[in-house]
Amino acid sequence: MQDRPLSCKDCGREFMFTVREQEFFKEKGFDNDPVRCPDCRRAKKQAQRSGNDGRGSYGGGRSGGNNFNGPRKRY
Ligand SMILES: [Zn+2]
Repeated sequence: MQDRPLSCKDCGREFMFTVREQEFFKEKGFDNDPVRCPDCRRAKKQAQRSGNDGRGSYGGGRSGGNNFNGPRKRY
């Protein structure tokens, strides 16, 4: 086994699916690869825990901002 680069579904960044994680996944019986980088995974977990999507912290002061053009998800 070796580290495999994957790209994050949420932020589009490339991250490593390390051997350690692959072993962890196998142990858990997961067949598929992770789709999110560790950062997004953590963010998602935290958002779920706090019961919202964590988006409230950005002030609406900036206009015309299309800074994020990643896929927008709503659950
Ligand atoms: Zn990500």
